Amino acid sequence: MERNLTAQMTPTSVDFDRPGKQIGVFHVPLSSHDDAWGVIPVPVAVIKNGHGPTVILEGGNHGDEYEGPITLGELIRDLDPSDVQGRLIFIPAINQPAVQAANRVSPIDGINMNRAFPGDPLGTTTRQIVAFVNDVLFPLGDVFIDLHSGGSSLDIIPSAVIEPGKTPEQHAANVKAALAFGTPITVVIDNRGDPRTATASAALAGMTVIGTEMAGGGTVSLDALALCRRGVRNVLAHVGVLSADVAVSPETESRIYELGPRAHVIVEDDGVFEPMHKLGTEVHAGELAGRIHFLTQPGRVPVDLHYRADGIVYGRRQPGRVRPGNCCLVVASPYESKLI
Ligand SMILES: [Zn+2]
Repeated sequence: MERNLTAQMTPTSVDFDRPGKQIGVFHVPLSSHDDAWGVIPVPVAVIKNGHGPTVILEGGNHGDEYEGPITLGELIRDLDPSDVQGRLIFIPAINQPAVQAANRVSPIDGINMNRAFPGDPLGTTTRQIVAFVNDVLFPLGDVFIDLHSGGSSLDIIPSAVIEPGKTPEQHAANVKAALAFGTPITVVIDNRGDPRTATASAALAGMTVIGTEMAGGGTVSLDALALCRRGVRNVLAHVGVLSADVAVSPETESRIYELGPRAHVIVEDDGVFEPMHKLGTEVHAGELAGRIHFLTQPGRVPVDLHYRADGIVYGRRQPGRVRPGNCCLVVASPYESKLI
């Protein structure tokens, strides 16, 4: 019922069962002051040929993360149907209003798309877009690739992300697919068990799931873009949709980390954040992580921040200005010993 209602509310111009390449849109209704029967055209593309798995590739879930959407646009333009065995479904700028605004969250309803799954065909714009992904696309998919970067507020070490599987078999498949991506480090991220992310929802739907975090700062990183281009092709070769000879092995074996419950360093003061270390530095719980300065109170002593976990500095806040509750640093801890 929900699936039928979603399909009816968000019609698409592409036929997912037709062989060949199609580039189109799905329409999300938006009846605004100056456009009573208007829609938001969200780009979607499908490349289908022969027999093989269906891979859904998502970019632009957050509108200020660019390496993924650039990579997916290139694949849509460059791949010929004869290159494919199976089906590729691309949603390269899924949060179209946020991508247009270069903003993390949608300017229409202020909702973070990656906390809006499984969506609602009768909800606000973000929830309607998500419902199309969850209700119409996910039932078609065997593999889901969700390409994120750090966005405006964070710089992150470019890495493939392992979504914890719902079964040992799914977890093993997720680990293998993330390692096939081929980044120097791979990180298990469970978002504290939050089921409302795209990857958690895709895992619930039974797919093999791979995520990424590709640099950040709201810019396009040369190095991260190169990793992203290579990694997506590597995963498509790993699952058999592209020929194995497009895969490029990384120079070094990936090291696996995880974000544990004490990974994040949160600020309690209103001021300016001074970090102590560059990304990738090995750090320990209790070590000085940074200071909060009070620029208009020069007599006030800065407040020290300390790491809460052992590992490496994985992510760092980009804007210097901070307020209570802001996340300044993220530490990734070694995971190898718990691999299944
Ligand atoms: Zn993101």
